[in-house]
Parts: sequence; structure tokens; C-alpha cells
Amino acid sequence: MREKVVIIGSGPAGWTAAIYAARANLDPLVYEGAITDENRDLGTLPLGQLSLTTEVENYPGFPAGDLSGYLRTALDNEHHWLTDLHRKEGCSGPELMHLMRQQAMNFGARVVTDDITGVVFDSYPFKLQPLDGQEVEALCVIIATGARANYLGLESETRFKNKGVSACAVCDGALPRFRDKPLVVVGGGDSAVEEADYLSKFASVVYMIHRRDELRASKIMQQRAFDNPKIDIQWNSIIDEVLGNDEKGVTGVRLSSTADGSKRELEATGFFLSIGHTPNTHFLEDKLEMTEKKYIQWTVPFRTNTSVEGVFAAGDVADHYYRQAVTAAGSGCMAALDAERWLAAQ
Ligand code: NAP
Repeated sequence: MREKVVIIGSGPAGWTAAIYAARANLDPLVYEGAITDENRDLGTLPLGQLSLTTEVENYPGFPAGDLSGYLRTALDNEHHWLTDLHRKEGCSGPELMHLMRQQAMNFGARVVTDDITGVVFDSYPFKLQPLDGQEVEALCVIIATGARANYLGLESETRFKNKGVSACAVCDGALPRFRDKPLVVVGGGDSAVEEADYLSKFASVVYMIHRRDELRASKIMQQRAFDNPKIDIQWNSIIDEVLGNDEKGVTGVRLSSTADGSKRELEATGFFLSIGHTPNTHFLEDKLEMTEKKYIQWTVPFRTNTSVEGVFAAGDVADHYYRQAVTAAGSGCMAALDAERWLAAQ
């Protein structure tokens, strides 16, 4: 089996690459990931991180709320007929991902529900080894396997995922359950400050729980945390348990002091992890140039090229910095255009 373009991954980057590659007559084959217990535990099932969130309010074109009502007020009379096409509430993360998948399939993308577990990039055509099935040859590969948020690994954390536990303040912070309520952010890096600062717009107070007595965040971000009257940093503290119940979800946290071992509890309706991400690059076994933290290194400025010609990377697997659905989709488009031009030049 020899393919022109194989896309590995099924988040916004993967599907956007598939839409563009299909419309360029490259007949893309998408490995969307396998449905396994391991992937479920890691948060790496098909359709990526967005499929683990609830509402998506920041993806352009999908405002939250009643879309038909919104369109009636937003459009002039001549275009009111458009509201007939939209009879539902705004989009959830899983819905958005299913729509992208369907859009790619409408243009002819073929989808295999399996993981790629090994790659051969030092001979050409490239070879890809699926978890279950026959090796595939590819003239061009786009890797869009994303990254996964790190969690502490507490049982209570898993229990309340989507019921107050989140690893993305920008995705979930504005939900009603977090408004005017105390919230917790775990971590002491730039992301934790950014998330705490963002959440402080909605919360009554944001407790930043950090395990040491100084932040890892850059000085300017540290100052932002210190200057924000709604951010209360709890130094030298680790989380013992997320507290809550089935009805209310998260209601608080139990902390331990790393200084003297003492315990205390804080009330909170939200528990936001900001302790870093892990890129899904294990299957590459360093066959591409990686950053120190194992993200794929883009090797040409403003392009999606990797260290192997004919292999491109898109989305969070190569981007630890922006990590947004819309930036991932944008780089997925870029990867498909880069792949198309590279194939044409061969
Ligand atoms: P990071 O810099 O690696 O910080 C992770 C934080 O989580 C650290 O404070 C770490 O504590 C803590 N942590 C890790 N594992 C933990 C655990 N098991 N229990 C408790 N705490 C734990 O990650 P990041 O903040 O996501 O930033 C990633 C990169 O993006 C950085 O290069 C950052 O500069 C950049 N970034 C920049 C901006 C900006 O400039 N506006 C915004 C966001 C991100 P320790 O400090 O004790 O290790």
C-alpha cells in the first residue's frame, strides 16, 4: 500500500491538513488514533484534546448560545434565510471535532481508527507501522498528534474531570460554574500565571498552588501575579486531594505544606492544572529533530518542515507556545500546502 500523504493525528491540525490535502487531490489517509484503554487513560483518544472539553467559545465562527438567534441579529434582512441552516446552540469541543472530521471525509479523506506506533524515515518512501495491521508506505507524512496536558495523577482529579477539573482555563474558564467563585490553579510557570490571571476575570479569588517558595515564571509574569489582587499564591504547597461530590463536582482541595507537613483545606469550584504538557511524540523515537521537551522541531521559519524532508508537523506536537485550536488548524493548513508544494517539486 503506497499513499501520497498520510496524516497522523485527528485534532484541528490533522483535520485541517486533511481538508486541504483532499481538496488538492492528494487523497490523504488519516490515522486518527486507536480506541484503547491506554489512550483513554492518557487522554489521547481520537479527536484530540478538544474532544475532552465542553463548550468551545473561542473558535471563530462558532459563537456560544443560540446560533439562529445570533445570526438573526447579526445579519441584514437579505441574509436571514441563513438562520434556517443553524437551529442549534453553539458548538461543543467534541461536536467541533466531529464536524471537522466529516468535512475532511466529504472531500474524500480516508480515515483509519488506529495508532501509528513506529516510523521509518531513513529510507524512501517512508514506512509507517500501525498498531494493528499492515505497514503503509507514504510519499509524504504530516504529523499532527498533538500534546496532552499533564495531570498530578490523583484519583480524585480523574473523578471530577469536566466537573470542575480542567487543564485549560482559556477553554473552560468562562463557564457558569466558575463565575464569582474561588478557583485553584496548580503550577508556578508562565502558563500558571497566565491561567490564574485569565481566571481572575471571572473568579472571586484564584489560589495559585505552588510546590516551592519561588515561581518558575518569568519576572514580568511573576509581577503580573503579584500585582493582581485576586491572585492568592499558596507557597510550598502540594495537593493531597481534590474534594467534591457527584452532584456539585469540585468543591475544594486539601493541601499539604512542603515546609512542615501541615494540612489545610480551601474551598473552590474549579481546579485547573497548569503543570506542563507532554507532546505525543513517543512513537517517533527521536527519528526527527526534537526540542529538549520532545516537541518536534520546525526547521524552517514560518514553515512546517521537520528535519526529514517530506515529513511535516502541525499543531501542538510542534508548538508548546500557542496551543490553541485555531492556531493548530492554521498550521494544519500550512502543512498541507507545504506537503503539496514539496510533492509537486519532486
Ligand atoms: P513550565 O515552565 O514547565 O512550568 C511548569 C510548572 O508546573 C512549574 O512551576 C513546576 O514546578 C510545576 N509542576 C510541574 N510538575 C508538577 C507537579 N507534579 N506537581 C506540582 N507542580 C508541578 O510549563 P509552562 O508554564 O506550561 O510553560 C511552558 C513554556 O511555555 C515555557 O517555556 C513558558 O515560558 C512558555 N509560556 C510563555 C508564556 C508567556 O510568555 N506569556 C505563557 C505560557 C507559557 P517547579 O517550578 O517546582 O518545577
